[in-house]
This record gives sequence, structure tokens and C-alpha cells, in this order.
Amino acid sequence: MPSLPYLPFARPTLDEDTIHGVAEVLRSGWITTGPQVKKFEAALSDYLGDRPVRTLSSATAALEVALQLCGIGPGDEVITPSQTFFAAPNMIAKVGATPIFVDVDLVSRNLDFDAVERAITPRVKAIMPTHFAGLPVDMERLYALAKQHGLRVIEDAALAIGSSWRGRRIGGFGDLTVFSFHPNKNMTSIEGGALVLNDETEAREVETLRFHGIIRLPDGTRDVAFPGGKFNLPDINARIGLGQLARLEEFNARRRELVADYFRLFPTEPPCLLPHPGYPGDETGHSWNLFAPLLPLERMAMDRQQFRAALEARGIGTGISYEAAHLTTLFRRQGHHEGELPNTERIARETVTLPLFPTMTRADVERVCATVGEVLR
Ligand SMILES: *Cc1c(COP(=O)(O)O)cnc(C)c1O
Repeated sequence: MPSLPYLPFARPTLDEDTIHGVAEVLRSGWITTGPQVKKFEAALSDYLGDRPVRTLSSATAALEVALQLCGIGPGDEVITPSQTFFAAPNMIAKVGATPIFVDVDLVSRNLDFDAVERAITPRVKAIMPTHFAGLPVDMERLYALAKQHGLRVIEDAALAIGSSWRGRRIGGFGDLTVFSFHPNKNMTSIEGGALVLNDETEAREVETLRFHGIIRLPDGTRDVAFPGGKFNLPDINARIGLGQLARLEEFNARRRELVADYFRLFPTEPPCLLPHPGYPGDETGHSWNLFAPLLPLERMAMDRQQFRAALEARGIGTGISYEAAHLTTLFRRQGHHEGELPNTERIARETVTLPLFPTMTRADVERVCATVGEVLR
């Protein structure tokens, strides 16, 4: 029997039109930030209800710039989940502020807003929630808390482009929103990110912060008042992003179909804790970047590393989303330790990310489910 092709846990879908478009940009003589970036920013703005959008070289850069835009620095605190990618806590630390780690719900893996409320002190300047796997956090609760306490919100929507809350797109309302276009996300520009803003004043400030802090003077010379980064997106990447944005709804609809297959076919013995299926009546608001169940480790004959190796040996790639950020060496040095955030730490131990990308077939999902069942038993 021929062996089955390797199934990675994520794979970008790049079409010929996009590849031709990139070749055109390469031949045009202008390859770094220019007309394609303007077009991509306009297309993103159009997609997000005409809010101002600026692109950057990554979501990580966008998170850093968003914190700088809010004037957050030493002495300030920012509430964030620890059950998220390292980028958000890292950037809070990088600007000199302190992350206040709050636990998440075991099933949605999104911030527990009762715990957020308890964590608010006069030093807290912002909340930086992650929409885990593309499931929006409770946006009503988030913005009610922010308003009540006068806090900025920086939404880490790296996994949530195309998600919506009660019919309104994530990034289409609220305060600041960050998207990622890394190849594992729902659309890609190879590397790249976007920051959604409230007004043109903020947008101009971001243009300065993403390019050395340069301000152009009336006499044609340049000045710098703040040591900005070098975070502009090249036109090559913007052209790829344009090709992807045109197909985003199609990609996300396909992801939802594949997830429906996962829920139908997933092995039930021993039972994994399956992901949140989306809010009742608002299921299409979930853009499903990841399908990541929790493993029943205490009922398994192997640990997670052995489980992942067994899948890998059968041609199935897996990931971990995520380790607990408060238990990294960086934040242990600041006094964090095990036992602080029970749900976060349990998820960090038990989570495994299974293959999910738009060009998968139902047969691929059947294969993953059958293999997981076989390995678990
Ligand atoms: C991928 C990801 C990021 C970082 O995105 P980059 O574009 O690679 O910088 C940040 N936050 C979350 C939740 C992510 O999944």
C-alpha cells in the first residue's frame, strides 16, 4: 500500500493569480513599501467597515507599536492571558510595562472576565485579549469593563481575521485590533501584520512608529523624536495579502466545514476535551484557525510528546498552542510560578493542535480522527 502523504497541521493556500501578481511586482521595479501596501491597507479598511488600517512586518510588531501608541511603558500594567502566543506578553515586557496574567476559560480558552475585573488596579492601562483559535472573546463584557475603568484595549486578533461577534467583524469595531498574516493564519502575506485604528491621527502616528520614528520637516529634512522600529511591509508581501483577502471568506467557510467533520468523527474513548464549538446562533463568527483538543493524559498509556511522535510517525503533524507564558524563564524571573493559573497550566500540559487548513479533504479529517483514536487506545 502506498504510504499516505504527510499532513502538516497548517498549510497556506496560494493561487496562480497571486503568484503571477508577485512576479508583476518583482518586474515593476518597486518591491518594498509602495502602491501594493496602499492597496492592501485600503482593501483591509474596506473589509473592516472603513476603519483606518496600517500594515506592519508582523503582528508582533503591530502589538509593540500599539502599546507605544497608547503611551504604555515603565510603571504601567497590561492585562493579558498567559495562555496565548509569547508575542503579547513579550511586547508588554519589551516596552517596559508589566503583564498581569489572568486565567482563561477551560473550553473557550479566552480570558475569564470575572478574573480580569479582579485584576484591575490603578496601574492597569490596557487589556490585551486574544481571540483564541478565532473564537471572539465576549466583546460586550470586554468593552463594558474597558469603558468603566477607562482602559485601552489592544485585541490580539492574530488568529481571528474573518471572525465576528453577533454579525460585526472583529476589527470592524472596538479600540485597537492586531491581525497576523503569518503562513499558519487564516490568510497570509508570508510575514506581515495589520493594526486597525480609531482615526487618521492614530494612523499617522503608526506610520511614524513603524518607520524609525521619522518625521518629515517642511524644509525637506527629517527629524526623530522617538526611537521607532523598522516594521514596514514590503509590496511583495502586500500583493500576496491582496490575493488572500479576496479569498478569505471562502477559506474560512471551508475551515468551518472541516471542523464540523472533526466534531462528527472525533473518537470518544478515552474522551478528549473538545474545543468550544462557537456561540449558539453565532457559529459562523468563529473563523477556526486551530482545532486543538485537550488530551485525557491521565487515561492514556503515553505522554503528550509520545502521542505527538506517534502521529508524526503516521504522517500527521501537530502543534502546541500554547505553552503558559507566565512559566517561561522570562516571567519566572519576575516571580511567576506553577499554580497561579490552573486552567492555563492544564491547557499548556494537555493541548495538541491537529491539522486544519482549507485544502484538506474530509478524507484527511477521517484519517486524523481514525489515527488519533488508534493511538489513544
Ligand atoms: C501568530 C500569533 C502572533 C504573532 O504573529 P506574527 O505575525 O508572527 O508576529 C501573535 N499572537 C497570536 C495569538 C498568534 O497566534
